[in-house]
Amino acid sequence: MERFIMALDQGTTSSRAIIFNHSGQIIATEQQEFKQFFPHPGWVEHDAMEILDSQIKVARDVLKKNNISPEQIASVGITNQRETVVMWERATGKPVYNAIVWQCRRTADMCSAIEETGVKNLIREKTGLLLDAYFSGTKVKWMLDNVPGLNERAEKGEICFGTIDSWLLYNLTGNHYTEPTNACRTLLFNLHTGDWDDELLDILNVPRNVLPEIKPTCGHFGHIKKEFFGEEIPICGIAGDQQASLFGQACYNVGDAKNTYGTGCFALINIGKKPVISQDKLLTTVAWDIGDGIEYALEGSVFIGGAVIQWVRDQLHMIEDAEETEKMALSVENTGGVYLVPAFVGLGAPYWDSRARGAIFGLTRGSSDAHIVRAALESIAYLSRDLIEALQQDFGKRISSLKVDGGASKNKFLMQFQSDILGIPVIQSELPETTALGAAYLAGLHSGYWDSKETIKNNWRIKNTFKPKQEIIKRKQMIEKWDKAVDATRHFRV
Ligand code: ADP
Repeated sequence: MERFIMALDQGTTSSRAIIFNHSGQIIATEQQEFKQFFPHPGWVEHDAMEILDSQIKVARDVLKKNNISPEQIASVGITNQRETVVMWERATGKPVYNAIVWQCRRTADMCSAIEETGVKNLIREKTGLLLDAYFSGTKVKWMLDNVPGLNERAEKGEICFGTIDSWLLYNLTGNHYTEPTNACRTLLFNLHTGDWDDELLDILNVPRNVLPEIKPTCGHFGHIKKEFFGEEIPICGIAGDQQASLFGQACYNVGDAKNTYGTGCFALINIGKKPVISQDKLLTTVAWDIGDGIEYALEGSVFIGGAVIQWVRDQLHMIEDAEETEKMALSVENTGGVYLVPAFVGLGAPYWDSRARGAIFGLTRGSSDAHIVRAALESIAYLSRDLIEALQQDFGKRISSLKVDGGASKNKFLMQFQSDILGIPVIQSELPETTALGAAYLAGLHSGYWDSKETIKNNWRIKNTFKPKQEIIKRKQMIEKWDKAVDATRHFRV
């Protein structure tokens, strides 16, 4: 009987279940989207029950449709949208409010008020994060403050808090656990001790008894109850999406780095066993704890990555499909001096300018749609380079190559340009689903499906390597012009 690993990939817009074999190849996959709720401007919620139900449904379907019996699943790994908060009744497992999603900005004012009490540096030092509405902590406080009676019930031990991993785990196994890659995104977790922190809990008024117990990323989280699949299946690995992708990309050594080109871009560098706190508002995060202590990563993101291509498609109507951009970009020799700075929602690291708005420079009578499309693709690479430069500054060393994944990494022009502008090889892995794969690897490593990280690393195969072709002088000139374009963008204020 051939055995497999099942990854449950609970993302922001859909739940997926993916079956992997011993070579790390995808055998089968199922996906279901779920509703997004926007009850007020800037607020984003999910129905926690719909998240759970859709996750269970895709897991059942992927087994059934492919004639895979639950006994064939050696273990299950979970990866999930991070920072999203669910609170539920301990006795019934019923959510007390919709899940507040990572994107939700409802606690922005709360963050400013907390900052005024002078705890900004303490929070930064202990958590490696920024005091921002993005992270879980203030969302938990918001629920405790705003759901009638919740605070009192929480004090009495009747309420559980969890990020999405915990929420799924509690319902599937009955265990109220989490692990460090998720816990470290809450503002309640101390990076240095690897545990919840009383001082942080005090600042956010969160009672300790709502919190899940923290287990290693790779370990035994309990068995999925028989009622779900007809047989018990152990859950042996859990990680937040970006860390799972770092693991799936086999970035196991200090200095290994990956960039995911999705709607936004997420870059992480493995920095080893010491949590360096960024000087540049980047995040320090737990990479994983696979049983021999916590390893850390530096993380940063570009807000508008592949989204600039969606904009070219949906607002400018220059293309019908993102794939067309590659051919269009290659149909011209360069952008003809056009620079596009997609600061649609401000600029992140290293600029941190929330008031900046997008701009296109260098237009002439000769500027064509192809020039603009090319400039849009190049902007993804320039912004990623700016971010990776900042990460390297904090890390204190240069990286020697960059592994890539995500939808837009399929674009060969973009990847070649990325390599040219970074001056290092850009490496595309053969297996595209690195996030789910990372969760599968974590689970399979613990359950003995894979015997070591080395075996997993041997599974990791290169699809394409893009080597830098640009002369150094030319690269410098291009970056100088890009810097000018960003500078000019930031000078424009309405
Ligand atoms: P997410 O996980 O954030 O939904 P995906 O990894 O699915 O994102 O990638 C989708 C993004 O990548 C979209 O923003 C899309 O515009 C962009 N994209 C997809 N294919 C290409 C391509 N061939 N060239 C450039 N961008 C692309």
